[in-house]
Amino acid sequence: MKIVDVKTYSPVYPVKDPFSNAMRTTRERAFGLVEVMTDAGVTGWGEGATVPARRALDAHVIGRNPFDYEVIWEGLHKQGTDTAAISAVDIALWDIMGKALKQPIYQLLGGAFRTRVQAYATGLFRRERPDRTAALVEEARGYVDEGFKAMKMKVGFGPDYDIKNVAAVRRAIGDDILFAVDANCGYDVGTAIAVGQEIAKNNLLWFEEPISADDVEGYIEIRRALKMRISGAEQFRGRWAFRRMIQERALDIIQPDVCVCGGFTEFRKITAMASANHVRVIPHMFGTAIRLTATLHLLAALPDSPRALEPFPTLLEYDMSENALRTELAREPIRHSGGIVAVPQGPGLGIEIDREVLQRYC
Ligand SMILES: [Mg+2]
Repeated sequence: MKIVDVKTYSPVYPVKDPFSNAMRTTRERAFGLVEVMTDAGVTGWGEGATVPARRALDAHVIGRNPFDYEVIWEGLHKQGTDTAAISAVDIALWDIMGKALKQPIYQLLGGAFRTRVQAYATGLFRRERPDRTAALVEEARGYVDEGFKAMKMKVGFGPDYDIKNVAAVRRAIGDDILFAVDANCGYDVGTAIAVGQEIAKNNLLWFEEPISADDVEGYIEIRRALKMRISGAEQFRGRWAFRRMIQERALDIIQPDVCVCGGFTEFRKITAMASANHVRVIPHMFGTAIRLTATLHLLAALPDSPRALEPFPTLLEYDMSENALRTELAREPIRHSGGIVAVPQGPGLGIEIDREVLQRYC
């Protein structure tokens, strides 16, 4: 089997109700998709934060066997292609391999430890509302009503906002819901520790990206100072970016994104490094139906860490923000039921792309 063509797409979804994290206000969502075609008629789809340049595709992808996924990865990386763009090609190659072998990708990754994954609702952004606390409380209660047993809220907007609103949401959802917070790198070390000590009183599952993503020493300081798990690394590209953060145990949980870190091929290497260093992996997910599905296959194949009778939940980040490219791009959309998502069982990624939906946003 030979790769005969690669098409790239850059769809943009305009957000109707803009939302903010500590870094930016999101008014549109932009994605890089690739469609890899073979002479056997098998086509694979992939997503990355960006897509590779034409000359990189011509030099390292066209004409190759899709099962050469390591060789293709190295070739693109050596040439200087952004790892997030390599991710798109890599995911498409695994989609092709699964379709060619008539197996879901999780089967190629070593099999499923679980075929249903617990999801946590990612929402609770800051929005323009007359009473932000009331709006957050209402949104959080809505997730509980939908059946979610876990959720994540955005913080990093200053001590007053964070302390008041984290406590209000915890009160509203009760003690039984897993509750994480994410500062999107919005604080310096001192503020992160000061805010962290206050919000930790709300029994938080983790405190995500309190400071700049690559500040290893800063994360070590915060981790020693706070009595809660610290997570991060969703923006990291390639195994080298994760190396010190993992080896120095600067994070309790790393959150590689399959569409940023380098696809399935690189995700597995990062996971092995984390496992060897007793660092937990809970993937980041914020993208189209392709990223959601790829993340589900990884979660199916991720062993419990540690291997306990009552293990720490292997959680899917379930993005609740509006994005038709997540909810409509697959002909059979991935949906949660009572906070649980089933892993697709079809060959490859196990989804069929709706080209009309794709064209609408290109
Ligand atoms: Mg995050």
